[in-house]
Amino acid sequence: MWSNGNRSMSSLEMKGEEIKTEARKSVGLSDLLACPFCGNDVDVEADEENEFPYFIECKRCYIRTDNYVIKNHLIERWNRRAS
Ligand SMILES: [Zn+2]
Repeated sequence: MWSNGNRSMSSLEMKGEEIKTEARKSVGLSDLLACPFCGNDVDVEADEENEFPYFIECKRCYIRTDNYVIKNHLIERWNRRAS
């Protein structure tokens, strides 16, 4: 009984540790996932005249994301969605 409780406790701790490691990773352009539709590489584009300049576009199938003010937010959003 108690040993079962201990076992599930320690597996929870391991999951917490994995999540923390994930969050510590810095986000960079090289971390961009491929297009979820066609598997092609995608690029971060910047429309300097737009109030929300950054978006990601696939050069093969031309899907694109919404525009974001902060590039890192865009990349984080993209990587989460495309997994
Ligand atoms: Zn594509």
